[in-house]
Amino acid sequence: MSTNLKYDLVVIGGGPAGYAAAIRAGQLGKKVACVEQERPGGTCLNWGCIPSKALIKSAELFNKIKHCEEFGISVTGASYDFTKIIQRSRNVSGTMAKGIEFLFKKNKVDYIKGVGTIAVPGMVEITDGPDKGKILVTENTLIATGCKPRQLPDLEVDGVRVMTSRQALEMKTQPKSVVIVGAGAIGAEFAYFLNAFGTKVTLVEMLDQVLPVEDHEVAAVVAKEFNKQGIDCRTSTAVENIKVAKNNVKMDLVKGWRGRVDHCGLRADRHRSGCQHRRTTVCAHQARARSRLHQSRWQLRIQRQGDLRGRRHHWATLARACGDLRSDSSGAGHVWSQPSEASD
Ligand SMILES: Cc1cc2nc3c(=O)[nH]c(=O)nc-3n(C[C@H](O)[C@H](O)[C@H](O)COP(=O)(O)OP(=O)(O)OC[C@H]3O[C@@H](n4cnc5c(N)ncnc54)[C@H](O)[C@@H]3O)c2cc1C
Repeated sequence: MSTNLKYDLVVIGGGPAGYAAAIRAGQLGKKVACVEQERPGGTCLNWGCIPSKALIKSAELFNKIKHCEEFGISVTGASYDFTKIIQRSRNVSGTMAKGIEFLFKKNKVDYIKGVGTIAVPGMVEITDGPDKGKILVTENTLIATGCKPRQLPDLEVDGVRVMTSRQALEMKTQPKSVVIVGAGAIGAEFAYFLNAFGTKVTLVEMLDQVLPVEDHEVAAVVAKEFNKQGIDCRTSTAVENIKVAKNNVKMDLVKGWRGRVDHCGLRADRHRSGCQHRRTTVCAHQARARSRLHQSRWQLRIQRQGDLRGRRHHWATLARACGDLRSDSSGAGHVWSQPSEASD
């Protein structure tokens, strides 16, 4: 049996863009719900910024211990437990996600668990998950459904030999060797982390520098340091003919290198701006299509936010800030007042 609930604002997606907007709208006295199909916190808290930084912290500490003689400190028999390192990162994420649930409660945001679908203008239906069947009647809708890793054509992500960053964040075993496709921030983070613990890392980038969207000077410093640490950085290089076998993955690295890795290939996602946006998930596409469809009839009432919006707002901090800005503009009788940018 379906239940009808009435809101000033329904936010679809509980990532930094969505939760910031929902919480701020709650603080401004609006009746607000946030629909999330997994766990509050979105990619950032659960599968992105936070768990990756937790892994980097472990790597940093281990690197420090390895070089502690330089500081006049001797440590003998330093070792690590890869499973515990991954588990610590998952625990950090879990704690942060619980924090968002607490903030929802504190700011009177109804947290609706499930997949939100805009059925007709002004109505969000929960089509799957624990709250399936609920229908939220709303004045305004904010779509903040984020993005997902881009897939390489003809390469199945099996989560064992071929991973996206999501699977890599909960790896069961440490790979002996890995090729990371894409040397943006995410690829670079995993390269640093795995290399610190002795995985042989090849970091491949089609463009002519690691961290291709950063300044050349900054990227050059990182590349130099990575090479010093033993990461094999291959720029202006394409990955072709990937063949996944039971115990290894083979591929061609075009410019002149043909190699083989023992364990797995990790695909580092491009979560950045335009490209990712255009190839975003089915869900995001649906959301976009729907928001465009209803725009003419519904004018300012449906907005997009965060990674889903692409280009300018791809990082969590910005997503959060934009979510806040939107929900602060309450003067026009809507929770926000900026014109919709749902159509490109
Ligand atoms: C490994 C990694 C490291 C990163 N590191 C950083 C960093 O250091 N700094 C930084 O600023 N950014 C970082 N990012 C990027 C950051 O995670 C994203 O920019 C940010 O999460 C985008 O926020 P968002 O709210 O737009 O989308 P998301 O965080 O992706 O949230 C979208 C949410 O919507 C939910 N959803 C989707 N469709 C539906 C639906 N129909 N119904 C209900 N719920 C739905 C999803 O489950 C998800 O929880 C990193 C990303 C990754 C992958």
